[in-house]
Amino acid sequence: MKLNELTAHELLGLLKTKQATPEAIEKDISAAIEKSEKKVKAYVRLIEEKLSEKSTGGKLSGIPIAVKDNICIKDTPTTCASRILEGFRPPYNATVIEKLKGQELPLAGQTNMDEFAFGSSTENSCIGPTHNPWNLDCVPGGSSGGSAAAVAAHEAIWALGSDTGGSIRQPASFCGIVGVKPTYGRVSRYGLIAFASSLDQIGPLTKDVTDAALLLKVIAGHDQKDSTSADIPVPDFTSSLKKDVKNIKIAIPKEYFVSGINPEIKKIILEAIETLKKLGVSFHEVSLPHTEYAVATYYVIATAEASSNLARFDGVQYGLRSQPQALRKTPLIDMFEETREKGFGNEAKRRIMLGTYALSSGYYDAYYLRGQKVRTLIKNDFDKVFEEFDAVLTPTSPTTAFKIGERASDPLSMYLSDVYTISANLAGIPAISLPCGFSKDHLPVGLQIMTKPFDEEMMFRVAYAYEQATDWHKKKVSL
Ligand code: GLN
Repeated sequence: MKLNELTAHELLGLLKTKQATPEAIEKDISAAIEKSEKKVKAYVRLIEEKLSEKSTGGKLSGIPIAVKDNICIKDTPTTCASRILEGFRPPYNATVIEKLKGQELPLAGQTNMDEFAFGSSTENSCIGPTHNPWNLDCVPGGSSGGSAAAVAAHEAIWALGSDTGGSIRQPASFCGIVGVKPTYGRVSRYGLIAFASSLDQIGPLTKDVTDAALLLKVIAGHDQKDSTSADIPVPDFTSSLKKDVKNIKIAIPKEYFVSGINPEIKKIILEAIETLKKLGVSFHEVSLPHTEYAVATYYVIATAEASSNLARFDGVQYGLRSQPQALRKTPLIDMFEETREKGFGNEAKRRIMLGTYALSSGYYDAYYLRGQKVRTLIKNDFDKVFEEFDAVLTPTSPTTAFKIGERASDPLSMYLSDVYTISANLAGIPAISLPCGFSKDHLPVGLQIMTKPFDEEMMFRVAYAYEQATDWHKKKVSL
């Protein structure tokens, strides 16, 4: 087997016993990129960083990682797959990049995404879409579609993405890999180019649960540079993986199994429940009564925060500056308008307009403020369930990967596809997606497990128990 097809923890074992070298891993990754990247288009740009040559034996030294293009890497172009950041080179590293460097993890490259993470398909990218390695006519999910596709196509061993409303979990589910959105505050957002600051979290995309636990340990922790990062100790997530799941109580929210769910997915999720039952888990139906408001609430809050975060891209400090041919208003206003007109794609413009409207005087109370109130109700629903239950289990997405172009002209149907992932962001709780089967047309299906804030250990424990009882995570793409 080629080294790039192994997991990080398998490779670490081989490196330790000298059965593999960082150079040999890099060579196999480069060969896979050479072979598959033309078809998959997972990367915005590759990074020629031969860390293996200067390794001093850091703990994870030699295991290449791909990083979403919205995480700042010092002196390296970082563009959020947007024209407006053309030429921008951050003057500093994101905290997560510093942490990867601390472990000597070589950066393989920066991955494609929906512009500014606005989307669920990686089609809203200024360089064009990424293709799903399982079926090149399909989307890889989004917005971290490049990261998910790079891992599934073995063009990286593991990857980082960001998740504001499902952008790690949904692509993980579409590409047959594991994706984790940590608790809000678990991972520093310093140097993550902000989409919606009260929802964004950086997290791992990996080939199995053990790798996700390993990588989360690397990137998590309090950071003085992010006032929303939590000053809470980071457990060794791998040490709780092997605890059994007997007598664990899991809630099944009935609102997640109503109309809109593809019957094939429902069947696969019910089978996953049976598998966990055999391991001693008990399941109980519950209600999360405010679920029906989640999509509307999210799209008010997320667009409002996005419109405010994107106000800084005006041609003055970052990236693109475009001058109009003729004077229209004043030279400065004309420059702002021309730059933003040329620099942003359609979805970014749509979100800026929606968000600006929701924040505008006279509408603030009716939209943003009301959205925040409903958000509290959604969070309260989860708090109540977690008083009695250890975890909540749902599908990750109501469908498998859809065809490229299929939803591109219908933003509402795209927004509705986030229905299962959005609530975890609104409630701030951790959630994982892991492979749990395939549809008849050979597309992967993902299982989502959510737990209470900062209880990633329980989330990993249930996920690991399920993974060990099945072999979905071992299915490999051949390209
Ligand atoms: N699909 C959602 C959106 O378009 C979530 C995106 C994300 O998590 N970054 O807003």
